[in-house]
Amino acid sequence: MIPVFDGHNDAITREDAADFATGRDGGHLDLPRARAGGLAGGIFALFTPTPGADRIDFDRGGGRMEVELAAPIGPEIAAATTSQAAGRLLGLERDGKLRIVRTIADLDAAREDGVLAAVMHHEGAEAIDPGLQALELWYAAGLRSLGPVWSRPNAFAHGVPFMFPASPDTGPGLTAAGRRLVRRCAELGIAVDLSHLNEAGFWDVARLDGAPLIASHSGVHALCASTRNLTDAQLDAIAASGGLVGIVFAAPFIRADGADDADTPLSTIVAHIRYAADRIGVEHVALGSDFDGATVPDELGDVAGLPRLLDALAAAGFTEDEVRAIAWDNWRRVLAAAWRA
Ligand code: ZN
Repeated sequence: MIPVFDGHNDAITREDAADFATGRDGGHLDLPRARAGGLAGGIFALFTPTPGADRIDFDRGGGRMEVELAAPIGPEIAAATTSQAAGRLLGLERDGKLRIVRTIADLDAAREDGVLAAVMHHEGAEAIDPGLQALELWYAAGLRSLGPVWSRPNAFAHGVPFMFPASPDTGPGLTAAGRRLVRRCAELGIAVDLSHLNEAGFWDVARLDGAPLIASHSGVHALCASTRNLTDAQLDAIAASGGLVGIVFAAPFIRADGADDADTPLSTIVAHIRYAADRIGVEHVALGSDFDGATVPDELGDVAGLPRLLDALAAAGFTEDEVRAIAWDNWRRVLAAAWRA
């Protein structure tokens, strides 16, 4: 089985995260199903849901969707929930269920040893103070990937609201604290994830020129005109920086009609991978499922369905080397550059 590194999941944020190791009903990702699907590594998001807000409702009339930017959350709420989620991840490591990887040597060793490799990630940096003192603590705890914002404003940037069809150019980008955060992450060796930034924020990060540009779980805007997706110019900039896009599996970000509908063929994911590979080179394309954070195609089902996706890539004309690059090698190369290790 070809091993897979996946750029984004919310498994640790789910309410039943305690059952991650033994397996659980529903959801997309737990340890038994990761083994079944060949998932050998991934970026595990520590995410704080907006209190009181349910799951985003993508239903809409007339083919348009507009979801108001979620309300900001208090740093004290984010710090508490993010600490708890990190504790769950560290607990799984202590129990030998996975390994939190801090260097490429760790990543290679985990794969060699057959232990699931987990990269600790903040999806939205609300748990970190604008003075960045807590960033040192999080780095020490194993944080190696960070999205300055989720789709809500914070001290660092303005997240991109969920809209369809619409341009990702929805408002202002990084704040001064956001620029400091991105620079400091580059110095420390923490990958910066652009997936929930709006277009101005994306270009602000690109201008800082600190590290390869990474969009861990996004799609192609030319194929699905969601604000969460990347324009051709953004894809080009990712390639020019040596970075990558992890193609997302979430139905509303891959379907041409933007519908939140699991009745979506696997070929829809393949189409985004093909488009990005043809435009910017297969070495800049990888996977970023959004397992446990979104509706994924029924034909994939969950993480155990990953071999079907890799088969579909082969059937679409990708060579075995290219499939291996998309599945693992590209993430490994780009994380090595971001981590300087
Ligand atoms: Zn996300």
